[in-house]
This record gives sequence, structure tokens and C-alpha cells, in this order.
Amino acid sequence: MFDTAIAGSLPKPAWLAETQKLWPQWKAQGDELLQAKADATLLWIKAQEDAGLDVIGDGEQARQHFVHGFVEQVDGIDFVNKVTMGIRNNRYDAQVPQVVAPLRLKGRVHAFEARLARAHTKKKLKFTLPGPMTIVDTVADRFYGDKVKMAMAFAELLNQEALALQADGVDIIQFDEPAFNVYMAEAADWGVAALEVAARGLTCKTAVHICYGYGIEANVKWKETLGEEWRQYEQVFPALAKSRIDQVSLECFHSHVPPELMQLLGGKEVMVGVIDVASDVIETPEQVADTIGAALQYVPKDKLIACTNCGLAPMSRAVAMAKLDALARGAALARQRYGV
Ligand code: ZN
Repeated sequence: MFDTAIAGSLPKPAWLAETQKLWPQWKAQGDELLQAKADATLLWIKAQEDAGLDVIGDGEQARQHFVHGFVEQVDGIDFVNKVTMGIRNNRYDAQVPQVVAPLRLKGRVHAFEARLARAHTKKKLKFTLPGPMTIVDTVADRFYGDKVKMAMAFAELLNQEALALQADGVDIIQFDEPAFNVYMAEAADWGVAALEVAARGLTCKTAVHICYGYGIEANVKWKETLGEEWRQYEQVFPALAKSRIDQVSLECFHSHVPPELMQLLGGKEVMVGVIDVASDVIETPEQVADTIGAALQYVPKDKLIACTNCGLAPMSRAVAMAKLDALARGAALARQRYGV
């Protein structure tokens, strides 16, 4: 009951990459970089296990950014000539690569870190990929001329990699779709359908993570404009409830998401965000258990997974470590409180 998991990313150690940045520069190259990525992955697997988490991830140590880590391994993309583009409905500018030709995978994308993680933990292993709609929102299109067509093309590539990750022994494949909270009507209209293409044929657990973004300033400011009640999930949850995706992740703690929206997920496993990624204040076990308790009004005990609101990548390593610990301790307290 109340398995614990992180959304996905964790901070990169200072010897691997620049710290507290969303698009950090690597500190090494070639084989040396590969070794540093492996070392950082092992470090975070150990830290998650030591904290007592039930579902372990690679912390996304081998990719520069959660979207571009995948896109880098796709043919048909000009990664040299990046352009500045407003992303997430112009919430902030990013340097994005350009799609210039039909899309094709160059080969495996995440085999190295997935196999490494699988070899070093006996716990459930979750692996994250960006969702098709969020990828489309993080690249510039100079070729397809049609968002949905391009999303479906990316979904096919994601599906190839997801099936291969499953063969590597991954237990849960999660697609990250923060764009679902930005383009709600489109998410319900074709975003979920694209997600199902990406997850086609998977027999392992599948998940989607939908959030209000990393705890960076642009996102914190955006959240201030969303009013007293954040109802973005209301539009996409019914479509997800009908989909074949097994788990849905949402922000809860310190958000203005009305908890009753979780009812719209009917039957799904729900990854409830009990850890705030926009604050360095460490949650107490009581706060975490209280958030779980509030969610239990709408989610059955055996379907609730305690999770972070989003990735921890831009945070300091010490804060992230303490937050992992808070997550595990809070879930343990919730098991005592609500376990009977
Ligand atoms: Zn997120």
C-alpha cells in the first residue's frame, strides 16, 4: 500500500553537469562522460533505495533534458542550428532543435542507462520518456506542417523505444506530458490518442505524468495567474480514464488542484504529488501523510502511489536527498494511519 516513487528527474552531481539548470552543460566528453553518467545513475539508485522508495528510477542522469534527451537520437532533426521558441504556450523561451525531414530513430535511445539501472536494483524500475504532445511543443517544425501528424510520427518512435525498454526489464514506462495542462482541449482531442500509440503493445505498466512544470521561476509566475482553483486536469482526465494507460500522476501538495478531480480517473492507479518541487522547504512526514489522507477520499488505498509533484532536476542535491527521505517517511506514516 502507498508505494513511493519519484516523478522522474533528479539533480545532476556537480562533476557530471552544471547544477540547478534545466539544460545543463556536461562536464566531460566521450567515454569519460559516459562513465560519469553511469556513476551518477548508480549514486541515485542507491540514494532512492536508502531512502526506502519502492519504485526506482535512473534519475534521468544520462540525458541533458527530459525532452531533448530523446530527440537527440532521432534522425530528421537539426540539432546544430537551434532556434529560440516560446514553449508551453509562450510561457518561456527555449533553444529548440528543428524538425527538417522524416523522423526515424538512429538506434536505441536509452539502452545504456536502462540496462545499467536494471542490473543494479531488484526493486520495481520505472523509466520515463517524453510524451508526443510535449515533444511537439519543444521542437520547431520545418517539415510536417501539421502538429498532429508530427505527434503521431514521434509516437511511433516512442513506441519502438518503449517496447525495447520493456525488453530491457523495465517494469513501468512513464510518458511525461506537461503540455496536457497547457493545451487541454487538444490533449483530450488527440494528445491521449498519441499517447496510446506510444504505449501500443506494452504489457508492462504504463503511466503518464502531467504537471505544472519544474519549480523554475517562469512556472512559479505562471501558476500565480491560474487563480484559486486549477481545473486543467478536468478536461483531460476523462479521456485518460477511457485510455489503456495504467497510472496517472498529478500535482497535489501546495497546488490549487481540487482533489475531487481525482474521481474523474475512475479505476486508474493515481500517483499523488505529495512533495513540492518549487520549494526547498522539506515536507514533514505529517504533511505527506495528510496529503495522502486527503487523496484517499477519492482514490482507493490500493491504487494510490505517493509521488513527487514533478521532477527534482533543478534543485540542489541536498534538498533532493532530503525530499526523497520525506517522501518515504510520510508514506510510512500514512501506512500506519490508514493501513487498517
Ligand atoms: Zn513534471
